[in-house]
Amino acid sequence: MGLDIGKFITIEKGDNMAKYLIDHKHKRIHRSAFVGDKCDLPQIPLNKRTGEKLDKNIEFLIHEGYRRCQYCYDGPSLPLK
Ligand SMILES: [Zn+2]
Repeated sequence: MGLDIGKFITIEKGDNMAKYLIDHKHKRIHRSAFVGDKCDLPQIPLNKRTGEKLDKNIEFLIHEGYRRCQYCYDGPSLPLK
């Protein structure tokens, strides 16, 4: 038995192993280590978000029109200037 959900994206049961969290509702890619309140992930239904750990899958998603989250993708939020 294997996962057959999607041909190119590995769906993780838990988010803890994933390097990235994908919000399929808004087509946004989050860095799981830095996700914060502004990311609005809790309001995304579980079936609309997946974990991802492979950079090449992220590149694929970006190619498909997904965008990197402005709040967490580049790391901890910068201090306000
Ligand atoms: Zn985010």
